[in-house]
Amino acid sequence: MGHIMKHKRKSKRKKDKTCDVKGCDEDKKKSLSTTKIKKKTDLKVESSGGRNSYLCKEHYKEYKKATEDERRAKRLSWD
Ligand SMILES: [Zn+2]
Repeated sequence: MGHIMKHKRKSKRKKDKTCDVKGCDEDKKKSLSTTKIKKKTDLKVESSGGRNSYLCKEHYKEYKKATEDERRAKRLSWD
C-alpha cells in the first residue's frame, strides 16, 4: 500500500514577531529595554539575549501604567 505520509516539519516560529512576555503570543507593538521592563513591571520577559524586548499592545499598556504611576508618585513627592 502506498501511503505517502506527509511529514510536516514543525517549523519553529520565530519569536521576533511576538510579544516577549512569557506565555504571550500577541503581536509585538513596542520595543523596550528589557531591564526597564523588569524594573518597572512584574512582567516576565524572555528576551533572547538582546537588550530590548517586545511588548504587545496589552503588555505595553501595563508597562505604561506602571511608569505613569511612578511619574505621578514622583511629582507628588516634589510638591
Ligand atoms: Zn504580551
